[in-house]
Amino acid sequence: MQPLLEVKQLSKTYGGRTVVQDLDMTIYPGDIYGFLGPNGAGKTTTIRMILGLIQKSGGEILFAGQKMEELRDPFAEIGCLVEAPGLYPNLTGRQNLALFQKLRKKQDKARMEELLEMVDLKQAADQKVKAYSLGMKQRLAIAIALLPNPRLLVLDEPTNGLDPAGIREMRAFLKKLAGQGMTILISSHLLDEIEKVATRLCIIHGGKQVLEAPLEQLLQSHRDLEIVTAQP
Ligand code: ATP
Repeated sequence: MQPLLEVKQLSKTYGGRTVVQDLDMTIYPGDIYGFLGPNGAGKTTTIRMILGLIQKSGGEILFAGQKMEELRDPFAEIGCLVEAPGLYPNLTGRQNLALFQKLRKKQDKARMEELLEMVDLKQAADQKVKAYSLGMKQRLAIAIALLPNPRLLVLDEPTNGLDPAGIREMRAFLKKLAGQGMTILISSHLLDEIEKVATRLCIIHGGKQVLEAPLEQLLQSHRDLEIVTAQP
């Protein structure tokens, strides 16, 4: 199977200080790819390079085999949630979505309703966004990111600031999205949060890759290690 996203030997240097070094990632269609590392590990920097928001210092990023910088409309291929979403608090969820659809010079009511359904906001679609919980705002921002029908969704620490119920909702929502065929890259600094949803995992520390593997392989080696260490 051809990977949807391939990151090869990706590096970033700021004024002589390397903050991401020779990072490799392979994301296949349908993956929920967990990108894990403590604060300051280099996750946001990597994601920003993937999205083309900052320049890379070295390496290569391929999307469906094509160089990222040669994609005609990267934001139609990759939807993202990277910062506090810029929503309009005095408009309803549906009005926000309609506005962003208009900005893309599209008018597709059916797609809008489909997205509201997908992000579980159908019931709350006519409430003003200022009455939404943070989790609901995140999901509305994700619906906006999904408007152009991207093939990859990139989420930088989407559970930051959410309470345990919000985290559980987000997890269930990501599984549902993946079940509908979406490929997802999600960063976090919490292993137990990621291991409950991810199919593949990349761990980064101090800008360097610690490992990259399918989750099952990782859990198996962890189990093997426990068996070995448990032996007398
Ligand atoms: P967090 O979860 O805290 O956002 P992170 O894993 O996303 O952490 P980054 O934000 O990518 O980490 O930061 C990695 C390192 O790069 C940090 O040491 C940070 O100080 C440094 N860094 C990030 N942006 C810049 C910049 N514009 N100039 C200089 N150094 C930077």
